[in-house]
Amino acid sequence: MVTERSGAERRRDADGDGCVFCRIAAGTAPATTVYEDDTLCAFLDIRPIARGHTLVIPKRHAGTLDDLDTALGTRLFSLGHRLAKALRRSALGADGANLLLNDGRSAFQTVHHVHLHVVPRHNGDIRTFTTGFLFRGRVGRRPDPAATAAAIRAGLDRLDAEAPTTPSDTEDKEPHA
Ligand code: AMP
Ligand code: ZN
Repeated sequence: MVTERSGAERRRDADGDGCVFCRIAAGTAPATTVYEDDTLCAFLDIRPIARGHTLVIPKRHAGTLDDLDTALGTRLFSLGHRLAKALRRSALGADGANLLLNDGRSAFQTVHHVHLHVVPRHNGDIRTFTTGFLFRGRVGRRPDPAATAAAIRAGLDRLDAEAPTTPSDTEDKEPHA
């Protein structure tokens, strides 16, 4: 059942008071960071569905997509896209990824600061993926987060070292006729 948000909840969602992801973005709460720039931050999910499960957030608080600047939303997805490509190029050896954004309580958003999940997938991983989804980081040996983040960063470096392959990658760099 979806419950109405109280006035206090709406205010908290809007301004980020007590928001754990705001604290991570500010560096005052612990996180294993994968990527950071002026406006975005990517870090490992504390209860991963699969090794390398990463969350991409805007540094500035936005509770839901309704509160998120459209241009920032574009950058958020663009970083998720880059991370999906980096995971393929990383030692995690992903074959694909699930990108997911739960927008609002009705969509099972539990942390009310917009975040994009990037979950690495491997061919034939349905059993481990399902177990990971059901038990969320509680099954088996937890992978070393520092090593996982380093592997993803190395994947990003590999991606950056590749020649641009899409028109949008080249459009700013090619001389205009
Ligand atoms: P959602 O259901 O889309 O709101 O997912 C929230 C995600 O945030 C879950 O996958 C949690 O495991 C993750 N999460 C919550 N707190 C933290 C934290 N302090 N550091 C990293 N991930 C977190
Ligand atoms: Zn926040």
